[in-house]
Amino acid sequence: MTLSFDPDKLPLPVGHFIGDRLVAAEGVIDMHRPSDAKAYGGCPVADENLVDRAVQSAKQTLKVSNWGGVRPRERTVALQRWADLIESEAETLAKLEALSSTRPVGQLVSGDIAVTAEQIRFFAEFADKEGSDLVPTDDSNLGMIMAEPYGVVGAITPWNFPVSMAGWKLGPALAAGNAVVLKPSEMTPFSTIYLAELAIRAGLPAGLINIVLGDGQVTGNAITGHPEIAKISFTGSTAAGSAIMANIARTGVKPMTLELGGKSPQLVFADADLDKAALVISQGILSNAGQACVAGSRLIVEESIAAPLAEAIVARMKMVKAAPTWDETSQYSPIISKRQLDRIHSIVESAVSAGGECLLGGAPMDAPGYFYQPTLIAVRDAFSPAVSEEIFGPVLTLQTFADEEEALTLADHPTYGLAAGLFTRDLSRAIRVTRRLQAGTIWVNRFSRSRDHILPTGGYKQSGIGKDLGREAYLANRKSKSVLISL
Ligand code: NAD
Repeated sequence: MTLSFDPDKLPLPVGHFIGDRLVAAEGVIDMHRPSDAKAYGGCPVADENLVDRAVQSAKQTLKVSNWGGVRPRERTVALQRWADLIESEAETLAKLEALSSTRPVGQLVSGDIAVTAEQIRFFAEFADKEGSDLVPTDDSNLGMIMAEPYGVVGAITPWNFPVSMAGWKLGPALAAGNAVVLKPSEMTPFSTIYLAELAIRAGLPAGLINIVLGDGQVTGNAITGHPEIAKISFTGSTAAGSAIMANIARTGVKPMTLELGGKSPQLVFADADLDKAALVISQGILSNAGQACVAGSRLIVEESIAAPLAEAIVARMKMVKAAPTWDETSQYSPIISKRQLDRIHSIVESAVSAGGECLLGGAPMDAPGYFYQPTLIAVRDAFSPAVSEEIFGPVLTLQTFADEEEALTLADHPTYGLAAGLFTRDLSRAIRVTRRLQAGTIWVNRFSRSRDHILPTGGYKQSGIGKDLGREAYLANRKSKSVLISL
């Protein structure tokens, strides 16, 4: 199978996906391919009426199919068929994703897409295993906590891992018996539309997944403020999460799960395996060119090993080879947009003008698309925006510490608490430091998720509310009713 493709010849599904079909719509938001900066069309914007049409489609489907009330194993089996089809159609999905996003096509089939299929199967298995609970009461009563689906769940996803993020939202919501109205990012809508098409081909009721395209201001607000959407599941920036909370407060009250931004530290103690740490740290910042919520963007190193570790990381970072996302040999992603490329560069420039020493990179690449050089900056000013702001690019800052206490002080971010990594061979220290790090995920001697989908992901502080993945994500898609029966 060759995955490389000609981006000018790939047919794109442009439109909203409502009920059982693509609703053609005119492109409004200009789209540019990150890999070569070429303009290639526009993303439509669904207004309130269109979002309402999607919500009514979802409601009607729930009523006619009784998706929330069928024998739960039927949901499991239908979702498993969808996961199978996602795997067998991985090549098409990968191309649709690679064209508009920053994900190299060669990493998608066995990476993002295979993992998404696996996660859908993981959530499908909860449908007939997680039920209502009987609770202890005295003999004259029977008490239970009855679990029920919400009905229509509204989901909004970012551009950085489009298929994966859609899977994280759709898997648990559908398994728990809900229908979904999902808005992908206006920059990367195509693979998500194809997921919805595949769901119908797999035999899921048409209208269970409805995809509306558009921006946050119009379409996003219409979703979060819709009175018949019972729950919101959002992944994106902390700023957008905050705007969503405000819109929900303005338009009513509803539960929400918010997976937001991060600025994750990687702590390296002098006793660590430095070769392994250098490899993991460079991957932790260069994967998707640092455009990952959990990117390990702040390197915090014990003084005595700072120089050799920096040298080993620079050597690793120099090895990456950039190529367009539609070239299957590409290992290094472009930045999503010109605006974001310029933002990354201005933060790097401000760090350098504040006395930071650029040990590698520090500029856009000399390439047709929006590629930025892998960058390592030794930072002197702890208040530099390079240390405080989520850069969302391949930029790693380096700070040093004298002892464990100082390491923890530097690691603690005032706003974010999504993930943190630490490298040490001292087990006691690993546990002690893990206990004190303020983040929703801690990785010890590694810096990436495994395929253990039971581990939930989510943030401390302003990195979010609630969890994706794990049992928690399934439970968050059900509401509970307390029932007491007098005997
Ligand atoms: P973004 O917040 O700009 O947009 C995310 C999505 O929200 C898009 O679909 C966008 O159209 C929509 N949106 C924006 N404003 C909105 C509003 N007011 N109301 C409703 N919808 C709105 O984020 P992005 O640039 O697409 O993605 C990058 C961000 O996502 C980073 O901050 C990253 O850390 C975060 N992220 C977090 C996780 C996680 O699991 N915590 C995972 C991936 C990405």
